[in-house]
Amino acid sequence: LAEKKILSDSIRDIKDFPQEGVVFKDITTLLNNKEAYQVLMNHLENRYRSYNLDYIAGIDSRGFIFGAALADRLKIGFVPVRKKGKLPSTTVCEKYELEYGYDEVEIHLDAFPKKDARVLLIDDLLATGGTANAASKLIKNVNANLIEVCFLLNLTFLSGATKIEKHAPVYSILEI
Ligand code: 5GP
Repeated sequence: LAEKKILSDSIRDIKDFPQEGVVFKDITTLLNNKEAYQVLMNHLENRYRSYNLDYIAGIDSRGFIFGAALADRLKIGFVPVRKKGKLPSTTVCEKYELEYGYDEVEIHLDAFPKKDARVLLIDDLLATGGTANAASKLIKNVNANLIEVCFLLNLTFLSGATKIEKHAPVYSILEI
C-alpha cells in the first residue's frame, strides 16, 4: 500500500491535454523520480519473474519504457507494438476506433521467433481499451500466447478491461 501511494503520488494530472475537457495522466513525473521508478520496476519484476515469459511486448510509446526495462530485468526479449508505418519489415496490422476516426497498430510478422512464445503485453494506461485490444489481436495473429495484459493505471470508469479480458487476464497496479 505504501508502494501504491508512492506511485500514485508521482503521477500528475494535466488538464485540457491533448484537448479541452481531457485530464491527462502524466507519468513523466514517475519516470524522473528514482524512488517511484524503482518501486514500479521492482513490483513488475516480482510479479512476473514466476510467469515463465519469453517476451515482453510494449505498446507505442510509453509501453516501451516499462516493457523494455522489465524485459531486461527478466532477461528476456522485448517486442515493440508500433503505430502504423514505423516498422521496417513485413508486418501484421490491426485497425481500431478512436473517438473521432481510427488508428492502426502493427507488429512484425516474425516478432516472436520462439515457437508458442509466452508473451506479456504492457502499456502505461488503460482507457477505452481500443489500443490494447488491437495489440492483443496482433499478438494472437502471429501465433504467440498472450499470457496477461498489464497496465500501470486502469481508468476503470471507461470499462476498457472488458474488451481485453476476451484475450487474456488484465492486471493493473493502480485503478481510478
Ligand atoms: P485506449 O486505447 O485504452 O482508449 O487508450 C490508451 C492508450 O492511450 C495508451 O496507449 C495510453 O498510453 C494512451 N493514453 C490515453 N489517455 C492517457 C492518459 O491520460 N495518460 C497517459 N499517460 N496515456 C494515455
